[in-house]
Amino acid sequence: MTSPAVDRTRTGLPAFAARSSASPAAGHATSAQDRAIAEPLLDVSSVTLRYKTPGLVITATERVSFSVNTSDRFVLLGPSGCGKSTLLKAVGGYIKPSEGAITIKGRTVTEPGPDRMMVFQEFDQLLPWKTVLGNVMFPLVDARRLPRKEAEERARHYIEKVNLTRALDSYPHTLSGGMKQRVAIARGMAMEPDILLMDEPFAALDALTRRTCQDELIQLWEETRFTVLFVTHSIGEAIKIGNRILLLSPHPGRVRAEVVDVDTASTADGSAGRLEREIHDLLFADA
Ligand code: ADP
Ligand code: MG
Repeated sequence: MTSPAVDRTRTGLPAFAARSSASPAAGHATSAQDRAIAEPLLDVSSVTLRYKTPGLVITATERVSFSVNTSDRFVLLGPSGCGKSTLLKAVGGYIKPSEGAITIKGRTVTEPGPDRMMVFQEFDQLLPWKTVLGNVMFPLVDARRLPRKEAEERARHYIEKVNLTRALDSYPHTLSGGMKQRVAIARGMAMEPDILLMDEPFAALDALTRRTCQDELIQLWEETRFTVLFVTHSIGEAIKIGNRILLLSPHPGRVRAEVVDVDTASTADGSAGRLEREIHDLLFADA
């Protein structure tokens, strides 16, 4: 097993606590050379995002850079209000950067598209008048323009993957929160996007269901190796979900550090606890 390494090469921070004895370095920090070899799937380069309200400009994130490779489970981690959702919406094409650029497969993101599907925290993201099958089929028919038969086959396949075949004909109001989130994940995955964008999808679930959903997401990833950009404010969840974690400072969000080579297996031994403490210290360095 490799240990995670913290890369501060792009953060401009002094290398305090870097690779301390508490977290031995693996020497796997992404070097400029490595990054030049693999063209990233998603590139976020020096992105500043602002909200302009009457009489007030709010800077949500400042010059944030990161890149996501195919099959990464890339996590954006930071306290509430640091601009995680804003960043995800910008990648989704819903907000334009004031500064910097976002490219996917080398093309600049200018608008939303079916190559980037979003899963939100809220349980009400499903269409209440459609069944589970209807909800998953809807974007396949509407946005992907698949013939109904093909759409249904594909929808059934992904509903099976999230273990909801028994609820195929159920309406959202009859489902638990965890089941609704599984439907939203199946709907996103069925579109087979280049990247799945998940904004704290399990944050509103009870602790046990949340853990099950995290395990299932990892299981699903093992099977399909989809690329996911996952937002959370929970250090534990970040370590569990991510293979790479970008740490953001409080408002406005700036990159603090990137943790690479996070191994899900590390949750089994003591290294997850050590990593959790190191990440905590990095996030709250000035507090
Ligand atoms: P996070 O998801 O990390 O909790 P957000 O991206 O939601 O953070 O918000 C980042 C900052 O931008 C916060 O200060 C928030 O108040 C502000 N903000 C978010 N949405 C809007 C909006 N629609 N109009 C004005 N300010 C907003
Ligand atoms: Mg948010």
